[in-house]
Amino acid sequence: MTISVHFGMGLAGNVAALLGAVLLGSGGTLLWVHFDLPHRHAWLPPLVLAVTILVSTLVLELGFRYSFWQLLSPLLAGGASTLTIALRIRDRQRCNLCNRRLKLQSVTFRCPRCSMLVCDENCWNFEHRRCEMCLENRVPVLPVQDSWWSRVTGPRSMNGRCQICLASGDQGDLRPCVTCRRLQCRDCWDFNNGECARCGATLPELPPSLRTMVAEADGREQLLPSHRSPSKA
Ligand SMILES: [Zn+2]
Ligand SMILES: [Zn+2]
Ligand SMILES: [Zn+2]
Ligand SMILES: [Zn+2]
Repeated sequence: MTISVHFGMGLAGNVAALLGAVLLGSGGTLLWVHFDLPHRHAWLPPLVLAVTILVSTLVLELGFRYSFWQLLSPLLAGGASTLTIALRIRDRQRCNLCNRRLKLQSVTFRCPRCSMLVCDENCWNFEHRRCEMCLENRVPVLPVQDSWWSRVTGPRSMNGRCQICLASGDQGDLRPCVTCRRLQCRDCWDFNNGECARCGATLPELPPSLRTMVAEADGREQLLPSHRSPSKA
């Protein structure tokens, strides 16, 4: 496609060919990145586009007429593509926590507790599914209202102990798992992302933010297919 467009513009003259090379270089790069064609290596789009334009230029040169200026087309296309990539890298998001600029291939996570977008390398805790800052500060995610807890788990239990921290009914607000009826204190329910440590069942009506959000570096977000913590690829 790129070849035929440039070929057509090349037939129209030197200026059209050079202009076409610039437009195709930057436009092709934008399309490339937009449609998420393999662009793990930043140098790939400029190289491919420059070679494509080189092919069409050679066909023009050999088949029709010789013009020194048209030989600049591949360079212009590669340069325009490189510039486009460089601008995109400059605009790339930063991790909200460590402020590191995110790489093209990096994955970010939306923290369910503070809703910051954080990098997977330093700031996301895969085991606990929250950012390191929320882990350190024990930032809660579940509602604090008694009415919510009573609706979701039934009344507080004064007998028994929390199956995780062993707090008694006096020490913690014990609430039963709706599936296996084991008790967990509210702090442990919260720390465990609303999951029962024994059977893995989650409390009904968990806040939507608890569904783990993964974001690509270009800002698109998607839901992790599984509620479980993902393993690093
Ligand atoms: Zn970070
Ligand atoms: Zn957080
Ligand atoms: Zn507990
Ligand atoms: Zn359970």
